[in-house]
Amino acid sequence: MADRNRATLLELLNKPGNNVCADCKSPDPEWVSVNLGAFLCPECAGCHRNLGTHISRVRSIKLDNWEDDQVQAVAELGNEVVNQKYEQFLPAYYKRPTKDDPELLRSEFVKAKYSRQEFIYPDRQTAYCSGIKEGYLYKRGRDDKGFKKRRFCLTRKLNGHTLLYFIKEKDTAPKSEIDLDSVNVVFAKDKIGVNPNGLQITYFVNGQTRSLFVYADDPKVMTKENKEIVDWYYAIRAAKFEWRRIAHPQQDEIELAEGLTTDFTLEGWLQKMGPKKKDGFKKRWFTLDNRKLMYSEDPLVSHENSG
Ligand SMILES: [Zn+2]
Repeated sequence: MADRNRATLLELLNKPGNNVCADCKSPDPEWVSVNLGAFLCPECAGCHRNLGTHISRVRSIKLDNWEDDQVQAVAELGNEVVNQKYEQFLPAYYKRPTKDDPELLRSEFVKAKYSRQEFIYPDRQTAYCSGIKEGYLYKRGRDDKGFKKRRFCLTRKLNGHTLLYFIKEKDTAPKSEIDLDSVNVVFAKDKIGVNPNGLQITYFVNGQTRSLFVYADDPKVMTKENKEIVDWYYAIRAAKFEWRRIAHPQQDEIELAEGLTTDFTLEGWLQKMGPKKKDGFKKRWFTLDNRKLMYSEDPLVSHENSG
């Protein structure tokens, strides 16, 4: 009986849509959410487990024993049926998590999809969908290198969106105003030691690349949720998407969403000589993105050299 049920499940993997994970689309899923009827990769299955069994009950195709009625329930659903329901209003600017993305992006995607059901009920996307957002982020100082709480504002202006931040609560003039057109935003992964879930926001000004390093939650009271920083990430993507759509009304949404943000191709320490020969080799942090190679003395530097 158990073998027959396992064989049926393995057959179901051949059904269109079931050969990839319902959430991240990575190939050869080995786990199934019994009640949702979704085939999942091990990483997404782990996120489902964290949702609680009242939302998703995951079992392994290979390792667990399956009852007839469980297999029957899964056979009637499958990834296509699941995603028609749970992704019916998935915004085009949303980024489906991949193996290279931080764990946070995957777990928040799974929570947004099944727990908060944001892609069934679009009115639950208000924290990011308009591309307008205001709130507090901890920003690394350019000179003193500590993180300070700053008010950030993502807002619309006449010809695009702009990102502002203010030093003092009551300041009406922003310390900096960044045109969103040139902005790229990536998760800083392990770079921000005090908080693993920070963002690196890079932009061009006066021919130079600059970076802001921010995180949302005070590490002393950091909650496991950390939804806020992901909301900022999507608010920036939503804002960029909106202006692309205005500029190119005839392009389809998939094309418009391409390259809204670009993860760095490669990053790490290298030894760099110079500029004078007698200077010898010095350890420098190199970042390669689509556009150019940059280097600095410290991964968290706000001004990068290029060449
Ligand atoms: Zn997956």
